[in-house]
Parts: sequence; structure tokens; C-alpha cells
Amino acid sequence: MKEIYLDNNATTKVDEAVFEEMRPYFCELYGNPSSMHFFGGQVQQKVDEARKRVAALLGASPDEIVFTACGTESDNAAIRSALEVFPEKRHVITSRVEHPAVLTPCRNLTRKGYRVTEIGVDSEGRLDMAELKAAVDEDTAIVTLMYANNETGVIFPIEEAAAIAKAKGALFHTDAVQAVGKVPLDLAASKIDMLSLSGHKLHAPKGIGVLYLRRGVPFRPFMVGGHQEKSRRAGTENAAAIIALGKACELAGQNMATENTQVKALRDRLQSELMARIPHARINGGAAERLPNTVNIAFEFVEGEAILLLLNELGICASSGSACTSGSLEPSHVLRAMGVPFTCAHGSIRFSLSRYTTDAEIDTVIRELPPVIAHLRQMSPFGREFLKGQG
Ligand SMILES: *Cc1c(COP(=O)(O)O)cnc(C)c1O
Repeated sequence: MKEIYLDNNATTKVDEAVFEEMRPYFCELYGNPSSMHFFGGQVQQKVDEARKRVAALLGASPDEIVFTACGTESDNAAIRSALEVFPEKRHVITSRVEHPAVLTPCRNLTRKGYRVTEIGVDSEGRLDMAELKAAVDEDTAIVTLMYANNETGVIFPIEEAAAIAKAKGALFHTDAVQAVGKVPLDLAASKIDMLSLSGHKLHAPKGIGVLYLRRGVPFRPFMVGGHQEKSRRAGTENAAAIIALGKACELAGQNMATENTQVKALRDRLQSELMARIPHARINGGAAERLPNTVNIAFEFVEGEAILLLLNELGICASSGSACTSGSLEPSHVLRAMGVPFTCAHGSIRFSLSRYTTDAEIDTVIRELPPVIAHLRQMSPFGREFLKGQG
């Protein structure tokens, strides 16, 4: 069975051209980029080229790019650095809907005596800007807010948020893992101090990330050791993955228009057809500005896990908003923060498309999902009550 992969916010296929670009750097050109000899030097040249390609996609300059092992590392490094840069400041601001890579390190800080403010969102997932404005003060070391939400695709007004943070002397970091490659960025004309991205969300391999660090912004490294990355991230460079990421960023720049036309058109067709065919469904964050590839739909009176299981049997890979932790099914913290009713949060499914998604795949989902939902509603006591009420 050929899979229909609609879980691109979890990870993406490595582009064949990206794989070809990295292939020689395992068995042939395996030199250490830091070595003095020509054999390492030729790897260093490719790493430099990759740094330029990443910078070009972000509108940054190459010396502002620090390669890390993943998006999670970049997020952690940004937050830890800000606290070391401002040892006297004891306040951190984030949002309630962040990825665990930001939320967990922030929440851990409360145990170390920090004040941590988690800004709320409205029912469409939009950031409460008034709450943010009121929360930032001279004691705030860092404001860290995601660019686009991985579960709903909702985009935050990041430049506006950065301006609010900067006005009070705080550093501003954004987890842009879901935005890079889908939303045009121009960091040269931005107030963002630090930005995280991850290779495997934009058709590069897993295990490579970037921390963008604006020139002049003070930084205290998390990983110390050798002098790699201008002493901002020690450890022998993952040269092959860096080279792959450079290629992926170059392709992302070329494909940005496709993301916002072809991919968006497929997403729009998927959501409008499902909404037309399935009663009592709603798009989580549907009224907000969203990524072009993501749709998160709440189907009332059904369990998300049950939907996923049946879709899985049809070869359709999607994701539920909820994280299943040790048998207890907790609805997603993102949907809870939006105030999505419990019965809806439990039946929420995220479809995330990519430039590899085809018309035929979307047709299949539009055909297969409505009977799956109807079947599950028929089986659940709530669903039956609900259907009876409908006559
Ligand atoms: C995937 C993701 C991360 C984590 O990136 P990794 O490279 O997997 O560590 C962080 N933030 C967001 C928004 C993500 O979607």
C-alpha cells in the first residue's frame, strides 16, 4: 500500500536533490571541515556555501547562521543564552501554545525561581497582544514566541511582538520551525534577535537545525568545547547534514511560490470539501492567518485516535491534536488554550501537506473520510444520541 502522507508538520521527505547533494560527504569527502589540509578544506567550502544558502532564505548574513543539531537545541540555546546575558533579569515570556521544545524549558525555569508568563490566545488561536504588552517589563530577559503553530498553522504577528519586547529591553526569539520555507522572511529588516529552524521540516534530513543570531546580539553558548561555529556551538560540524540543509533552503526559496499557490489550493480544497460533506465539523484557527499547508479540523462526537486508526488502515497518515501520554488521553494543550470544547478537542485531526502532495491524494481523503466519521459517530454513545437528535 502506497502511503498518503499528510503529516508534513511532523517531518518531511528528504528531497532527492538534497540527498544527492549530501551523498558524497559520507564515504568520499569525509574530511573534518576544521582540518588544515585540503581534504578538510573542500568540506569547509561546501559548509560555507550552505551557510550562504541558509542566510539567503532568511534575508540574513552568513555569519548570523549557527548550525545546531535540531530545532529543539536552537530553542533551548536561545532561552538559556538570554538568561546568562541578563543574570539580573528573572522574567521570561512565552505563549501557551508553544511547541514542547520551548514550553518545557520555560516551565522548568519556574522551579529555578524565574517568573514565567505564558501569553494566551483567543478561540482562533491568535495571540493576545494586549496581554503581551502588559506583561513585558524591565525584568524580562527574553520573549520567545512561535512564528507559526505546528498544530493549527496559525501565524503570530511576530514583528509586532518583537517591537513590544525590544521597547522594554528584552531579547526576542522566535521558533520559526514551521514558518521557514512557507512564509517569506527578511531578517535584515526585522527586529527578531534569534530564530530557530529545523532541517527535517523543510525536506532536509533529521538532526540538523539552525539558530539565527543577529549580529551584535550578545550570546552565551550552550555547547562549549572546540571553536566550531565561531565558538557559538562547539562540536564537529555535521557537514553532510549542513550541506543538505543548504540545498533544502535553496529549493525552499525556489518553491515558496508553489507552497502559497499549489499547496495552498490543495489544502483549501481539502478543507472546504470536508466541511461541506461532514456535519458538525469546524476548522480550528480557521478565521486566523494560517500557514498554506496546514488544516486542523474538529469533528464533534468522535475520538481523534479512532479516526487516525481507520485512516491509517486506508494508508492515510495524519495526526491528532492530542498527545497520548501513558494511557491517559490528554487533549492538545494548543486546542485547550484556544478554549476548544473537550468533545471537539478530542476529535481534532491535523492534515499537513507538502509540495509532494497530489490532487489524487486529496481526492482520496475527501472520499474516504466522511464515511469514517459517520461510522464512528454511529458507534459512539454520544454520536448516536447526537444522530438521534438530528432525526
Ligand atoms: C518540529 C518542531 C520543533 C522541533 O524541531 P526538531 O528539529 O525536531 O527538534 C520545534 N518547534 C516546532 C514549532 C516544531 O514544529
